[in-house]
Amino acid sequence: MAAIPTLLPSHDFREALRRRGGEAASRCYQCATCSGVCELAPDEAPFPRRLMLWAQWGLADRLAADPAVWLCHQCNDCTVHCPRDAKPGDVVQVIRALVIEKLAFPGFLGRLVGAARSSWPLLVGLPIAFWVVLLAATGHLAVPAGLPQNWAFEQLVPHLLIYSVFFPAAGWAMLAAWVSGRRFWGLLTANSPGKGSFLAGLAPALGEVATHKRFGTCGAAKPREFGHLTLMWGFVGAAVTSGLLIVGIYIQHLAMPLALTHPYKILGNLSAVLLVIGAGVLVANRLGGGVKAGASTAFDTYFLTVVVLVITTGVLSEVARLSLTAEFALAVYIAHLGLVLCLFLTFPYSKFAHLLYRSLAMVHERGSQAQAPSA
Ligand code: SF4
Ligand code: SF4
Repeated sequence: MAAIPTLLPSHDFREALRRRGGEAASRCYQCATCSGVCELAPDEAPFPRRLMLWAQWGLADRLAADPAVWLCHQCNDCTVHCPRDAKPGDVVQVIRALVIEKLAFPGFLGRLVGAARSSWPLLVGLPIAFWVVLLAATGHLAVPAGLPQNWAFEQLVPHLLIYSVFFPAAGWAMLAAWVSGRRFWGLLTANSPGKGSFLAGLAPALGEVATHKRFGTCGAAKPREFGHLTLMWGFVGAAVTSGLLIVGIYIQHLAMPLALTHPYKILGNLSAVLLVIGAGVLVANRLGGGVKAGASTAFDTYFLTVVVLVITTGVLSEVARLSLTAEFALAVYIAHLGLVLCLFLTFPYSKFAHLLYRSLAMVHERGSQAQAPSA
């Protein structure tokens, strides 16, 4: 006799869903209109109706193991057409936040970032305070006398000091993301043994991430697709520029600051332009997009705010270096270092982690398709 599956409802999950802004799920009466209009839902496993049902029942384990939670790109077509105003697009967004928290390593950091509404002063303030204390302790909190006209930030805050903080921070974020990613992959593959080959799905999924092809399928999400794509490539450009700068400083022994015409500088400035455009589009969409933009939860707002502050302080510190006082530039630069540290350390626990989970869900989906017997 086939085993009867056991359902384990979680009262805590239902309570958290309500607290975080997903209370509209209780209005869903399972008409499935949402699954019918969703352009991203595959015919063989349509969503978001079943996610709404599981959310109503508090089936946290099922939701954590369902790739559909991440294959949804929050275009909110479903929310517009829902006859019960159950806001499925917004509910799935809250579910994503709760899944990130559930799979977080260590769990208390997931809960801390998950409670962004009350914890954001701590999350943002502590890394900035850390830099103030570190620079004070190492004698770099003041602008040194005799600074040349064309000074570089290296003369205020040595690169070695920066790398001694950011390499361990990045290492920690990667370790935490690795553990969470393993947990998620284990859940995905547990329900589809033999399916979801990682290697078979990796290349096509990365291609989709790089082009945002699937985002474009949601016609209503066009502005968000453009903003998201621009922001992502801006981050990629900034990361590549940071790597090239390490090469430039320690291997090529380039003198800092680089001229505006140097290729590394051009790449860095182009990345900054992409970041500003991408963040600007996303903020404008969030503020003026109405129901299509979806509801803004604290979790969501926290991440977007930190990204905007990182970009603003990064651009402003460079502008201040070129045209304002060194004291002002240093103050902005310290805030920038703190905000970037905050972004690094909260990567596995904030909305930033959608990069990890959505990519894995897409790898699993594409790997499953690659292994499916052809008709
Ligand atoms: S969320 Fe709305 S559209 Fe979807 S099944 Fe429930 S009531 Fe129907
Ligand atoms: S928000 Fe868009 S992608 Fe997500 S379930 Fe609704 S219709 Fe589908």
